[in-house]
Amino acid sequence: MRYISTRTGGDLRTFTKILLEGLAPDGGLYVPERYPEISTKELDGMRTMSYPELAYTVFSRFADDIPATDLRRIIFDTYTKERFGSDEIVPVKRIDDGLYLLDLSEGPTLAFKDIALQLLGRLFEYALDKERATLTILGATSGDTGSAAEYATRGRKGVQVFMLSPYGRMSEFQRRQMYTLQDENIFNIAVRGTFDDCQDLVKCLNEDAAFKQRYHLGAVNSINWARIAAQVPYYFWGYFRATGSNAEQVSFAVPSGNFGNVLAGYIARRMGLPIKELVVATNENNVLEEFFTTGRYRPRKSGEVVATSSPSMDISKASNFERYLFDLVGRDGTRLRELWSDLRTRGSFDLARTPEFARIGETGLVAGSSAHADRLAAIRLFSAKYSALIDPHTADGVTTGLKHQEPGVPLLCLGTAQAVKFAGTIREALGREAPLPDSYRELAELPERVEIIDANADTLKRYITEHASQHCVSPHMAYTADLIRK
Ligand SMILES: *Cc1c(COP(=O)(O)O)cnc(C)c1O
Repeated sequence: MRYISTRTGGDLRTFTKILLEGLAPDGGLYVPERYPEISTKELDGMRTMSYPELAYTVFSRFADDIPATDLRRIIFDTYTKERFGSDEIVPVKRIDDGLYLLDLSEGPTLAFKDIALQLLGRLFEYALDKERATLTILGATSGDTGSAAEYATRGRKGVQVFMLSPYGRMSEFQRRQMYTLQDENIFNIAVRGTFDDCQDLVKCLNEDAAFKQRYHLGAVNSINWARIAAQVPYYFWGYFRATGSNAEQVSFAVPSGNFGNVLAGYIARRMGLPIKELVVATNENNVLEEFFTTGRYRPRKSGEVVATSSPSMDISKASNFERYLFDLVGRDGTRLRELWSDLRTRGSFDLARTPEFARIGETGLVAGSSAHADRLAAIRLFSAKYSALIDPHTADGVTTGLKHQEPGVPLLCLGTAQAVKFAGTIREALGREAPLPDSYRELAELPERVEIIDANADTLKRYITEHASQHCVSPHMAYTADLIRK
């Protein structure tokens, strides 16, 4: 398996290379030269596999330059009962006839990003060791991704993390989750300001070439292919739990922001998994719904992004969308550059009445959006009718998913976070508290380890200079990861 960039193609690269590189030098995203195909016979053999076995079988098709014994060990070390709460790793709950919940939120930070990032943390450690390289992650987070990235890299050799978060603006749960980490390679920095101030600081440090080179800091705004590849296996897993034979089709409802989760479903479908529809569910920030229903892709200005009760889906543009669009335009890099150039000059492009737009149907994607009242209604419905507690993001998926449900086609709704992470909305919907998992009870007692600074680039530079591990400073070769996108 070799990888190409969505913009110019470029040299063919191996999985390990793009794992460490992140964004392609031409600004594009890496995609497989072609998607691996899973035959019906292979599919039969996969039906009874355990989660780690299945994850290995699917993921190894994308990472074929890592020796099989090493990759197996890494994957089996990642998806354990200790880390994900049960041997199933991703429990599938039958909710009603033809309705299932695929629960992706049993990992260390109680949200679906753990599934990919827990594996990535280990893959980075492995690849860096092989290349005798180090990695410095400088990121900004408004909550969820930061904690998932920190839990994935804590204690990993050759990796250090400086994570900026807006002081006093995260939920208590999110704050405890991040700031109580005591690992020496994790640095939490609370900035007196907003999430945008945090992002500006990251950008500012990246613009100082000398500093950047010395500490190996780079832009952390792109999307790592390995994250997508690590999300493909759970679509297979969910399919097998909801069907009795490979002659059946299912649909998935996917709460979507940056389009990473649902893109993995699209790739599973391209690999041959019998998926009827992939329902792209957005909240009020409906860039994706707009594209799939009208053909117009118009990223929002940062002032246009609304703060909603499903905050991990509050996005201005859908970073991973470029990978899907690349396929939609027949992998024509010139055409893609044209669209991207329209985007730069006009702020949008429009595929309405083009053959490309007509092709969306073949890809299985449909879309819809929901608002705060819909989320509350879905949380209440699942609680009252099915005694199931869902979080506001999952509720967005459920709302649009149910609108697209068809008789005879099982619908799997992806559960992307645990309700307790969004306690305020649960209280509003149900008038009661979401129970705190045991593993989190002790968080309340742990000391918080965080540096509070003003939103000032010099202050941040001084902090990094004083705290960066000498091992991670030049002359060692180093990479800057793109684990973080929010
Ligand atoms: C990140 C996130 C999403 C959105 O996933 P994308 O891959 O960005 O589409 C949805 N729900 C939760 C809880 C998340 O953390």
